[in-house]
Amino acid sequence: MSDVTRPAQRAPLVGEAEVVVVGGGPGGLGAALGAAQAGAQVLLVERYGFLGGMATAGGVNPFMPNHLDGRRLDSGAFATWCDALAALGGLLPDGRTFNPEVAKLAAEQICLEAGVELLYHASFDVPQMIGERIDALLFHSKSGPVAVRGAMLVDCTGDADLAARAGCPCEYGREADGLTQPMTANFDVAGVDTARMPNRGALNELYLAAKEAGRLRCPRENCLWFKAVEPGRIHFNTTRVVCHDATDVRSLSAAEMESRRQILDYLRWLRAEVPGFEECWLVSIGMHIGVRESRRVRGLAYLTRAEVEAYAKFADGICRCNYPIDIHNPLGAGTELVHFPPGEWYEIPYGCLVPQRVDNLLVGGRPISVDHAVHSSMRVMPPACTVGQAAGAAAALALRANCPPAALDGRAVKAELVRQGVWLVDGDAQRGAGGAMKDTSSAATRLTA
Ligand SMILES: Cc1cc2nc3c(=O)[nH]c(=O)nc-3n(C[C@H](O)[C@H](O)[C@H](O)COP(=O)(O)OP(=O)(O)OC[C@H]3O[C@@H](n4cnc5c(N)ncnc54)[C@H](O)[C@@H]3O)c2cc1C
Repeated sequence: MSDVTRPAQRAPLVGEAEVVVVGGGPGGLGAALGAAQAGAQVLLVERYGFLGGMATAGGVNPFMPNHLDGRRLDSGAFATWCDALAALGGLLPDGRTFNPEVAKLAAEQICLEAGVELLYHASFDVPQMIGERIDALLFHSKSGPVAVRGAMLVDCTGDADLAARAGCPCEYGREADGLTQPMTANFDVAGVDTARMPNRGALNELYLAAKEAGRLRCPRENCLWFKAVEPGRIHFNTTRVVCHDATDVRSLSAAEMESRRQILDYLRWLRAEVPGFEECWLVSIGMHIGVRESRRVRGLAYLTRAEVEAYAKFADGICRCNYPIDIHNPLGAGTELVHFPPGEWYEIPYGCLVPQRVDNLLVGGRPISVDHAVHSSMRVMPPACTVGQAAGAAAALALRANCPPAALDGRAVKAELVRQGVWLVDGDAQRGAGGAMKDTSSAATRLTA
């Protein structure tokens, strides 16, 4: 096989805004709202026809807890999304289990209400650079190649596609060998007689017996499931595809196929061997395999496992997190889960969102400048959304100050987030937005994401 040179093509400019956010997952949603609330004109560009990222396209559910004293730490954009979900009847009273279709509606609604312009079905391709500055972004679309221009850009693609192609230094996977956490295709079955369903321990015993006998081929050490919003529907986050690369099209394709082979094994096993599942049927598979980890940018700051295990706090801390370190073994069975003590949390400093080398770019969501272990904690949807909100707010502030994000004082970003209702300062006055909620975290934190 020999490579092909792409001919030069004109790309019509289909969008222009002060802040352009690429990717509409939890991070992109946060970024769009953060920038809009900080007064910027915002365009969000997403490759699919809806928002939500892993929460919708990846079928990931529920929102993992990131709480302190029974209160949601992510009291800004994430709380706004949850409130909209609840108002549309798409969120259970536990505050975590949601209907993914309603999550799409809620995410779009809150963006439009905030004045964010949305462009769907446009997949980011390459940036056009002028020196260290991104001048325009080129996308693949149904109309062919199109261009978008923004004074400030926020990369919320989850994989740091924009930062990497703009030449920002990135890391991939864990430090020792570059391997990433496994991918997982999430799937749901309906028609389950939940009254007869075994408890977690008993179901795991059945799972391990089927694995031992070779009837179910999946490297995971247990079977991970959650109740869905609808009665009789069970959500499985349990396939495990190791040693594949989410940024390589052939490897990603192979991962999708391997995950579906595993789903077929699971379905046969559930129907044949698990009480309550005899009459179940498959109702959904995430339309994109779940990607836990790929690239992470190297930014102005870099947060390490040692720092978060010492509960590091920063004057420019833009997100508080105490979801455990949660590393699914990149090579096969086993999951490392390290909880933070009750009442403790760590903070992510602003510099982790500012990639090196490019002057008008920030990164939001999961691919920020942290190590493999810290990433395994902050990647869950609530903090990923707050990190996005911080990146969006910073983009707007940098624009107003006419300076690159690297020159911005991170304490100003923190102050803007506090103004937007994010709980970053102690005291009840700052705890308001997002509201108090019942802390049901203990049960869920024993589970993994
Ligand atoms: C299997 C699995 C299980 C998980 N379980 C949980 C859980 O139970 N609870 C929890 O809270 N978290 C969980 N997580 C973590 C969480 O879902 C993700 O880490 C989180 O969604 C990250 O948000 P993000 O916005 O950074 O990225 P994503 O959610 O991946 O969103 C990225 C967005 O960018 C778009 N995009 C990507 N590339 C391009 C491009 N080139 N051009 C245009 N658009 C692009 C995508 O379509 C997507 O909408 C899980 C993750 C996985 C993979």
